[in-house]
Amino acid sequence: MNGKKVAQVGIIVVCLSAAAYFIYGQLMTPDSSSELEPGRTLYWICMDCNAEWSTTAREMEAQGGEVPCPKCSRKSSAGLAFHCDACGRNVPPFGHGTKPDNCPYCKAPLK
Ligand SMILES: [Zn+2]
Ligand SMILES: [Zn+2]
Repeated sequence: MNGKKVAQVGIIVVCLSAAAYFIYGQLMTPDSSSELEPGRTLYWICMDCNAEWSTTAREMEAQGGEVPCPKCSRKSSAGLAFHCDACGRNVPPFGHGTKPDNCPYCKAPLK
């Protein structure tokens, strides 16, 4: 093996590892759909008066991340909920943000 060939092999190895690093970086990038898009609909439920309503992420941010309840106007009682497409109700999560498998109102599977 002469010096020139060693240099070529070295360049190929560097290129391959750069490509591998790039692909790895792409795979490790979190899915952009999990980010909060401004137009995304958020569903809310009031822990105090059980009111159900929705806002967009943009509306929530415009209010400093606090969403007042449209019924009792308390801000701290609003909790993020899941939405049942089958019956249109907002479904409160189990514990800390865990999605129930089925809607507690109409028993349809929650997406
Ligand atoms: Zn309320
Ligand atoms: Zn339902």
